[in-house]
Amino acid sequence: MKKVLLLLLATAFAASSAPKNLEIYWIDAEGGASTLIVAPSGESMLVDTANRTADDRDAKRIFATAQKAGLKKIDILVTTHFHGDHYGALQALAKMIPIGMFMDHGESVEIARPNVAAAYKAYVELAGTHRRILKAGDKIPLKGVDLEVVISANNAISKPLPGAGTPNPICADYKPHPADVDPDNDQSVGFVLKFGKFDFLDLGDLTWNSEPKLVCPVNLIGKIDLFQTSHHGLDRSNSPQLLAAIQPTVAIMNDGPHKGGQASVFETLRKVGGVRDIWQGHLALDTPKEINSPEEMIANFEATPECKGNLLKVSVEPDGKFTVTNLRNSFSKSYVAK
Ligand SMILES: [Zn+2]
Ligand SMILES: [Zn+2]
Repeated sequence: MKKVLLLLLATAFAASSAPKNLEIYWIDAEGGASTLIVAPSGESMLVDTANRTADDRDAKRIFATAQKAGLKKIDILVTTHFHGDHYGALQALAKMIPIGMFMDHGESVEIARPNVAAAYKAYVELAGTHRRILKAGDKIPLKGVDLEVVISANNAISKPLPGAGTPNPICADYKPHPADVDPDNDQSVGFVLKFGKFDFLDLGDLTWNSEPKLVCPVNLIGKIDLFQTSHHGLDRSNSPQLLAAIQPTVAIMNDGPHKGGQASVFETLRKVGGVRDIWQGHLALDTPKEINSPEEMIANFEATPECKGNLLKVSVEPDGKFTVTNLRNSFSKSYVAK
């Protein structure tokens, strides 16, 4: 009897103390951005809230993902920048699930545009006293992981992250692009999330012209295990200087049927070395099929009206092994953190 009880207690203890995984979900927003991070502690951080549509498509997709992850609230919302494809669904989402803290780069630099001013004002009112403006070098307090802001409001960290700091040999070849027509992209909050040996880099829609702040002449970021391609995989971002510096083992592209996923971004990713796979939220319909990733690594194929919004998910074990799963077909593949 005693033995049985002890065994039961031991089993219960093992179940409650078993180390938990970090989980990251990419919500398909037809070319918008929304990434849900659930720390092993159970706390959650949502990065961006995608598009506003008449039927609240993206808010519903984000809410369904939060429910799938077992969340009752979003502890932290990071809005990388104030473009409609990154916070359009926020007002609708906030009616579906409570949001704890609102973090962002500070006032939109496009505030002189009337539609931007109205949306930004609604954001400020919703966030109220729960708002925090992030600066490079700040830590985002998501329990169970280490989250450092590497760029915000176009100011980057000045010292390399631990283990980084080597010169980037291809900076001499860097050529700037013409100035971006939507300057809030370059205000994007970018962060590195570390969980044990694993690291994940998300730079929002930071463009080509600001990427050298992080990787030239010295690589301040270092090599990364998982990279959410900047700007939905548009070639206005994702310079060879950035990609060669971070050499991500896995890239996840939050592209849409007709947004991002540009051929030159695939080509650069495949050329820089170290990149094992590129997973896509969507088949990029304007890019040749053979340049897109193999079908099993693409979550959605259809044009927007027929699209079901299948998720991509990454599960990271405490020892650094991480598994990407396409929830359309359950195809998955595991990788080892560097
Ligand atoms: Zn943008
Ligand atoms: Zn965007």
